Formats: sequence, C-alpha cells, structure tokens
Amino acid sequence: MRNTVDPTIEAQWARIRGRLKAELGEAAFKSWLKPLTLITIDNGEVRLTVPTRFMRDWVRSHYADRICTLWQAEDKVIARVEIVLQSDMQPVARASTVESVKSARPTAAVVPVGNGKRDGAAGAVVVADVDALSAPLDPRFTFDSFVVGKSNEFAAAAARRVAEEAKVPFNPLYLYGGVGLGKTHLMHAIAWQIRKRHPQRRVVYLTAEKFMYQFIRALRFKDIMSFKEQFRSVDVLMIDDVQFISGKDSTQEEFFHTFNALVDQNKQIVLSADKSPSDLEGLEDRVRSRLGWGLVADIHATTYELRLGILQSKAERMGALIPPKVLEFLAHKITSNVRELEGALNRIVAHSNLVGRPITLESAQEVLHDLLRANDRRVTIEEIQKRVAEHFSIRLADMHSPRRARAVARPRQVAMYLAKQLTARSLPEIGRKFGGRDHTTVMHAVRKIEELRATDSGFSEDIDLLRRMIEA
Ligand code: ADP
Ligand code: MG
Repeated sequence: MRNTVDPTIEAQWARIRGRLKAELGEAAFKSWLKPLTLITIDNGEVRLTVPTRFMRDWVRSHYADRICTLWQAEDKVIARVEIVLQSDMQPVARASTVESVKSARPTAAVVPVGNGKRDGAAGAVVVADVDALSAPLDPRFTFDSFVVGKSNEFAAAAARRVAEEAKVPFNPLYLYGGVGLGKTHLMHAIAWQIRKRHPQRRVVYLTAEKFMYQFIRALRFKDIMSFKEQFRSVDVLMIDDVQFISGKDSTQEEFFHTFNALVDQNKQIVLSADKSPSDLEGLEDRVRSRLGWGLVADIHATTYELRLGILQSKAERMGALIPPKVLEFLAHKITSNVRELEGALNRIVAHSNLVGRPITLESAQEVLHDLLRANDRRVTIEEIQKRVAEHFSIRLADMHSPRRARAVARPRQVAMYLAKQLTARSLPEIGRKFGGRDHTTVMHAVRKIEELRATDSGFSEDIDLLRRMIEA
C-alpha cells in the first residue's frame, strides 16, 4: 500500500491527467476526469472516486481501461483501476490503511485489464447497467402522495393505467401542462410503481436535457452504437420536458429513431412537456405528429379545492398542526402553481418551528408577505371588473354606477367578491374602486355571493370559471 501523498505518485497521476486531457479535449476532461480523486494504490489496484453515481458509471464504462493503460505505462505493477462513489468512501476518506478502504467496497467494481488492448477512449470494458441511464427518482413522488382533483384527474388516471397494466395501453403517454403542476411527480410515480409491480421491466426516466447530453457525448466519443443499444434495450422509457429536444437536428433525429424503435418493439414510452404536441416549436412535423399518436393528457391549472386538498395532505405528511383557516387562506392566495404552494407551507412550518410559536393566520401572512404580494400583483381590481363585465355582458361603467337593477347589481357583487378573494385589498379599498361604495356594501356582496355559491352549483361553477380566466 502506498500513500497517495507520495510525490512520485502525485507526479504520475498529474502526467496521466495531462495525457487524458490531450486525448479527450478540454470539455470532456473537465466534465468527466477532472472530478476524479485519487484515493489509494494498493496491490496493483488504483482507486479513484467520483461525486455522483452517474459519473461513476460513465467513467467506468468509458475511461477506466484507458486510465489503467496509462497507469501501466507509468508503473508496470498496476493491474486494475477502480472507480468508486465518493459518498461510499466518506467514512474512510482520510484513511490510508488497506482494511479501512476494503470496508468501503460495496459499490466498487473492478475493471479488468490485459485482455486485449482497446483503442481510444471509447472502448468500454464494463457496460453500464441500464439503470445507470436513469436519473434518480424522488421518493416523495408517488401515486400515494399525488392528490387528484378535476384539473389533473385525467392525467393521473392515464398515468395509473400505464403503471399498472402489464401490456402497453397507449403509446406514447404524453403528459403536458404548465410549470409546477405535477408532471414530474406523475412520471416518477409511474416509474416507482412499475419498478415495484414488475421489477423485471427496465424503467429509465430522464430529462430531455440529459438525453441530449448523453447523445452529444456519444457522438463526440464515437460511441453511438452503445448509446443506441442502451436506449433500445429498455422496457419503459420516460423523458421529461421534451420541449427541450426541439431545435437540435441530430438529437431530434436520434430521439425519433429511438422512439420509433421502442414503439415498434411495443415498449412503453412516457413523455412530458409544457405544451401539447401540436404546439411544440422547432420540431419536425413527422416527429410532432408521432408524439400525439398515443394518449395526450393535459394537466390544467389547479382549482381551489385541489390546492386545499394538496395542502391538507402535505400538512398531514409533515405532521404539522396548521389551523384549517390558514390552509384555506393559502389555497386562496397562492394560485400560481403547486410548487409555490408547497414552498409557502414549508416556510410557515419552518418559521413556526424556529420561533417556537403555533401557526396563526397572522403569522402566516407575515411570513409570506412577499410571496403573497407577488401572487396579488397578477390580478388587479380593474382587471376583475373588466372580465366580470364582459362575462355578464354589462358595461364596465356599471361597475361604478349607482344603478341597482339586478342585471348589473349581481355582476357587481361578483366582481367585489372576486376582488376580495383574489387581491389583498381591504373592504374599504374595494368599495372605493366600485364607485365609492361603503365597506359594508362590499361585505354584504361577499356574503351574498358565498350564499349563492353554497346553494347553486351552476352559479358556483360559473364563478370558478371566471376566477380561473382572471388568474390565467
Ligand atoms: P412539473 O414537473 O409539472 O413542473 P412537479 O411535478 O415538479 O411539476 O410538481 C411541483 C411540486 O408540486 C412537486 O413537489 C410535486 O410533488 C407537487 N405537486 C404537484 N401536483 C401535485 C398533486 N396533485 N398532489 C401532490 N403534490 C403535487
Ligand atoms: Mg417537471
């Protein structure tokens, strides 16, 4: 066992890195080889660590044997190069004894050398496990934790079918919707479920960016064949945010070929994007139309009920005691997307833990004042008045006029109600914007509309619709 602080070894490693840099070019060197750290040399075995699993697999399959050859040129004794995950080494990171290093063996794989030379950096001795292609899955993103409401029930049902059926029910499943509405959550949920129910099926989940990145690397290292093989041997391929694939011609081409090859083999494909297939820009027509061949499911903007449901479920999972009033307040005020909603909840819980005081409506408002302002800024009373007037076909001027005829008074009340719901304005402020009315008039309007909503579901839906249009 030789210590790696040995100056001779340091110098050898520096020379090897210099060679690799010259051979592979600055960019590849920086991404893959610079992060390597030499840990030990023992018994003819060189041990190097990398920070991520993905890197470990990549370096193992693409560079390990080249590194080994270069080491042998420096020192004949070297027979193997091992690439190990840094985190697996952490308990012994400073150790320099054989025993302690050996105890950190679990993920280490030995790359044998000497069985025939390979030329260039592309020669792979160990073929990376197909799972190494997959990005890690978030353990929180399961079907259990996904709250279903009107806006996402179709997408959720489609996702479940794909996850539970042994056969491929539709191909591809294409999920789309705005940011933070649960696309990634659903995709991970599908992947978890298939891995649980059908462990023999190989599920690969990755973002479109990662797919492109891998493809471009494969091109650079003339490794397209193994790229193709790896992707075409999966059973379920899930690519998140495919809108990022548009543009780059050759990646698009390769994506399309991979896609077709898998569909032909009756393998399941699941895609997500922020737009429908027909709205994806920068895609060739044939690719675009092919994406829409299976089932296209969109996730709409959240409703108040869904937001409240998500908050309740999340609060319960966190084991946090939050008054229902606070949850309702958040569900009303934070309408942008679920990610922001969760962020708000986390913030008030963290704050309450920190100061050691229970959560109240006041404390929530205080902690979130910036976020609430940002959400408010999106809707003004003027906009609400305009939208409501259009919706009920009355003149905008009637929002301010003293007329009391039901045909204008009711829409005016609806606008006041929505102003209270969607903005942070006080009752007197709202009153002033409606032709200088008194705050009690506004209060009366809010109560009246609440009453009507409770008794007339058609009316209630109408108001929800209006509200969604205003918020959009
Ligand atoms: P997208 O990929 O559509 O941008 P994500 O799937 O990343 O959105 O969702 C953002 C956050 O909101 C995640 O933490 C996710 O768990 C949560 N989320 C979204 N929709 C729901 C839902 N219906 N139930 C529970 N959590 C949700
Ligand atoms: Mg996402």
